[in-house]
Amino acid sequence: MTGLVIVGHGTRSAAGVDQFAALVERVRRRGDVGDVEGGFIELSRPPLTDAVGALVARGHLALVALPLVLTAAGHGKGDIPAAMAREQERHPGLTYRYGRPLGPHPLLHDALEQRIDAALAGAAQADTADRAGTWVALIGRGSTDPDANAEVAKVARLLWEGRGYAGVEPGFVSLAQPAVPAVLERLRRLGARRIVVAPYFLFAGVLPDRIVAQSTEFAAAHPDLDVRVAEVIGDCDALADLVRERHAEALGGDIRMNCDTCAYRVLMPGFADKVGRPQRPHDHPDDPVGHHHHHGHDHHHDHGSVAVVGGGPGPDDLITVRGKALLDAADVVVVDRLAPQGLLAGLRPDVLVVDAAKVPRGPSMAQEAINEALVSHARAGRRVVRLKGGDPYVFGRGHEEVQACAAAGVPVTVVPGVSSAIAAPALAGVPVTHRGVAHDVTVVSGHLPPGHPDSLVDWAALARARGTVVLLMAVDTIAKIASVLIEHGRAPETPVLAVQDAGQPSQRSLPARLDEIGALAAREGVGPPAVFVLGPVVALTTTGPHT
Ligand code: SAH
Repeated sequence: MTGLVIVGHGTRSAAGVDQFAALVERVRRRGDVGDVEGGFIELSRPPLTDAVGALVARGHLALVALPLVLTAAGHGKGDIPAAMAREQERHPGLTYRYGRPLGPHPLLHDALEQRIDAALAGAAQADTADRAGTWVALIGRGSTDPDANAEVAKVARLLWEGRGYAGVEPGFVSLAQPAVPAVLERLRRLGARRIVVAPYFLFAGVLPDRIVAQSTEFAAAHPDLDVRVAEVIGDCDALADLVRERHAEALGGDIRMNCDTCAYRVLMPGFADKVGRPQRPHDHPDDPVGHHHHHGHDHHHDHGSVAVVGGGPGPDDLITVRGKALLDAADVVVVDRLAPQGLLAGLRPDVLVVDAAKVPRGPSMAQEAINEALVSHARAGRRVVRLKGGDPYVFGRGHEEVQACAAAGVPVTVVPGVSSAIAAPALAGVPVTHRGVAHDVTVVSGHLPPGHPDSLVDWAALARARGTVVLLMAVDTIAKIASVLIEHGRAPETPVLAVQDAGQPSQRSLPARLDEIGALAAREGVGPPAVFVLGPVVALTTTGPHT
């Protein structure tokens, strides 16, 4: 299932933020577009990164990102996609379909008409319903992108078409001409007596306020004119309907974006510098990336680092002090399924947690994707902790990650951890060595059965040895391993202990003879994570609480 992230630009106006939040809530309440979050790329909370993070945390790695903007200008074309690219860097495997901007659309024209009617209804004169005597000044945000400004002109035309207003003239409150006073003056010279200034804006903000101020000033200078200002479109059903429509378009792959007159593609007089210009994301002050910028120089390539940290066998307090300190200072934590999950709850809320188990690629690609994520986060200046179960170098592929970072020139350190190979037997009461009983302990991966062409284990030698053998990743292969060990000389009565979920409340251990362990494990449904420890030390097992 896809999640929907509604992306706003952000505003310094609290009312505008509230309207945005109310719309997101309205869309969510309707329940027809799935899981919904809203976030801003600038100025307002919550930042986009929180919205995407929340959706990813709820299992959505495939998103629809809908820019809640009326026209395709810089924010819709560049800033939001750039911010989403940064989110993709943070969440390996994240994909998204990008919706097109809201306008122009009949639902918006209807909403504008209603706002204009409402402004007219407030008039004292009897002829207020007389549209033929009313001129509309449709005021857009204004952009350095000619295509976006042209769209406001188009909306003005469509708003006039068939609605009976004397005329609808487009204008802009910033960056583009004609400005609000110029449009009002033009209408006055055309003989207008009543003008409704209609802000072509979704929500309240600094610019709509400026439209009101400029209109009021113009009206004061021309007391013979009836000048009113309509409300912004605001949170309403029409807008929620449009969000649903744009969402469906994005899912269906039917995005009819007009690229023919886009200044980033087509050389337009005066805008040659825009063609092909790379896009960079805004920095939201609540986005951890943003913090680094406030130092006034580029920190990004100075401080990024990776620590490959062994988290221990599971309980929160079996990580090393050094590992915990690095975790507390991390900006990004890339975590394995077997790493101590309880530690994640103690992270600062702004820490990005990447679930490495969810990297949605084939098994061989997954490690590459994780390596890439470590490198790219570090290169972006973040302190990355790669939190692993047990010790990073005991069947944890930790050294591959270290090598990848080193090859990329990213500073990397390793923090050893308490390995389940030693800890799981200990937590079940078995010492892997004991004076006079075992002078050697061999830790073996059982992920390949004896006889497998890729196996690097000398099973016959292990069978001949007298000490302790600890088998990891051997749930599926234990029966075969036990019979090969016996075949090559281990005594069938050698004691074995299966220890599952060591350190967890669900921990259990099952004793058996070597010749019975395969059948017992199958019968009892021993499942991962589990270790098997075998050898004379198992006879020393103490019972009672070990955790
Ligand atoms: N680096 C890890 C091992 C990774 S291989 C370490 O040093 O512990 C994964 C295997 O570790 C599992 O298949 C299981 O055999 C073992 N394992 C990890 N955590 C365990 C736990 N809490 N209880 C029992 N076995 C565990």
